[in-house]
Amino acid sequence: MKPIYMDNNATTRVAPEVVEAMLPYFSDLYGNPSSMHAFGGNVGATLKAAREQVATLLGAMPEEILFTSCGTESDSTAIHAAIRANPDKRHIITTRVEHPAVKSLCEHLADNGYRVTFVPVDRLGRLDLDFLYKHLSDDTAIVSVMWANNETGTIFPVEEIARKVRERGIVFHSDAVQAVGKIPINMADSSIDMLSISGHKLHAPKGVGVLYIRKGTKFAPFLMGGHQEFGRRAGTENTASIIGMGRAAQLAMECMQDENTRVRALRDKLETELLKRVPKSMINGDPENRLPNTTSIAFEYIEGEAILLLMDQYGICASSGSACTSGSLEPSHVLRAMGVPFTAAHGSIRYSLSIYNTEEEIDFIIEKMPPIIERLRQMSPFWKEGMIA
Ligand SMILES: *Cc1c(COP(=O)(O)O)cnc(C)c1O
Repeated sequence: MKPIYMDNNATTRVAPEVVEAMLPYFSDLYGNPSSMHAFGGNVGATLKAAREQVATLLGAMPEEILFTSCGTESDSTAIHAAIRANPDKRHIITTRVEHPAVKSLCEHLADNGYRVTFVPVDRLGRLDLDFLYKHLSDDTAIVSVMWANNETGTIFPVEEIARKVRERGIVFHSDAVQAVGKIPINMADSSIDMLSISGHKLHAPKGVGVLYIRKGTKFAPFLMGGHQEFGRRAGTENTASIIGMGRAAQLAMECMQDENTRVRALRDKLETELLKRVPKSMINGDPENRLPNTTSIAFEYIEGEAILLLMDQYGICASSGSACTSGSLEPSHVLRAMGVPFTAAHGSIRYSLSIYNTEEEIDFIIEKMPPIIERLRQMSPFWKEGMIA
């Protein structure tokens, strides 16, 4: 059975065009791009082209593109680079709703002598900007705010924040892993200093990422060794994946229109119909400023994990709003930060679409979901209590 894949914020299918671009670099074209001979040098030339393709997608200069091993490495490199380039500054500002790649690192730094301010969000997941601006200080080494949230799709006003942060001479980083390819990004016309992206969220393979570093930004490398990546990240390049990333960047530009029209319409149809057909259901997040591919829907009084299991029997892949940590089902930190009630956070399902989804798939889900929810609610003591209350 072919899966109905609605979990594209977790990972995406590698585009067939990307596979095709990569294949020769596993077989015939295995040269080392740093070699002096033409066999390696030719691979180096293709790597250079891939860097230009990614730069074009971001409106950046090729020398501002650093290839990494993943989005997590890009986030970690940006934050470490800022604090090591400003050793006398001991304060970091981030948000309560970041991806674990930023959240866990900042919590670790908070345990190791840094003061970390986590900016709160409101019930719709919108940042408290006054709170953020009030906490900027001469001691702040970096402000890191994601462009779009992976769980709810909420888009944050990062350009506006970056302008204010730059006025104070502070470095601004954004985790744009979920934003790139879905909404326009133009670094030429931006105050953002560093930006993270990940290959596998963009129809390139897993294990390749990009950190954009604005020309002139103070930088301290993490991996030391050879001169790869302009001396900013040693280690022989993951050539095939980087070449795939370049091709994926080209495709992302071609597909942005489809993402914002057809995919958005499919998402809207799914959401409208589910909210209409399932009582006690609601959207998590800001319905206005939102990625075109994502909807997080809370089905109150039932367990997300149970919903996913029943969906799985039909081959429908999605994610829930809770994380199974140490045997207990904790609602996600994002939904908790938004103050989503416990009974709703637990039954939250994230559907995240891609250009490969079809209307038939959406219609199938619209048909299958209401009986799944109904069946689980009939077994739920919370549902009956909730109905009485
Ligand atoms: C997936 C994701 C990451 C991590 O990217 P990896 O390449 O899996 O390390 C970081 N931030 C956000 C918002 C993500 O969705």
